[in-house]
Amino acid sequence: MSNRTPLMAGNWKMHHGPAAAARLADEIGAAASSHKGVDVALFVPFVSLSAAVSAAGRRLQVGAQNAHERQSGAFTGEVSCAMLAEVCPLVLLGHSERRHLYGESSTLIGSKVATALESDLEVVLCVGEILDERESGATLEVVSAQLAAGLESVGGEQVSRVTIAYEPVWAIGTGRNATPRQAGDACRAVRDWLRDRYGDAADVLRILYGGSVNPGNWAEIAAEPDVDGALVGGASLEAESFNRLIAISAAA
Ligand code: PEP
Repeated sequence: MSNRTPLMAGNWKMHHGPAAAARLADEIGAAASSHKGVDVALFVPFVSLSAAVSAAGRRLQVGAQNAHERQSGAFTGEVSCAMLAEVCPLVLLGHSERRHLYGESSTLIGSKVATALESDLEVVLCVGEILDERESGATLEVVSAQLAAGLESVGGEQVSRVTIAYEPVWAIGTGRNATPRQAGDACRAVRDWLRDRYGDAADVLRILYGGSVNPGNWAEIAAEPDVDGALVGGASLEAESFNRLIAISAAA
């Protein structure tokens, strides 16, 4: 059994403005503080960051769902890592919706990771294959390429501030989760890649699974030795289901 503390991270996507975020962060914060042995994070919309941080206090970490790769400039509508670092400790980068709906390349995501770490943010970097890539046997090749580009500028002294989320795109928001074995094999392959690059540091880095996690399927996936928690979309939108997931992880 690993001594990595599991991390349960909710990704609210474009849900929950400041009022709802404060209420939910408080309810989830109560569960986070009552269960030892599991860390909890919430990735919330930019406008809800301050409200969620105030409501959660030190019971859980709050993070943003994206950031710009530059620190300031004429980029209308964008938010920089330096700005985020004033309000929260964490940022989610490379989510499949950023890659596939907004055309973010792995190279761009690598620049964002570099800027976030320079800004003293911690990073959750998402990687994962689309269905065609899985069915053609290209999963590991795709994920390795995403890791190589996403971590291109990350040296051994910085990598402890990175968590990887393996999220097969075909499982995100579809209700079709990866089997425990598929999730476990992919997370192990991610760890092997990290070990090749960073040596023993790979044993302490957390690797999350994401894709249609819910209270009915999580215990089995969480039992996989290289799965150190989950990135959860739909089931994090209500305290009831997300708090059950936190409890399952605490008991695992
Ligand atoms: C996600 O948004 O990263 C995600 C995994 O969503 P869902 O849990 O809804 O599949």
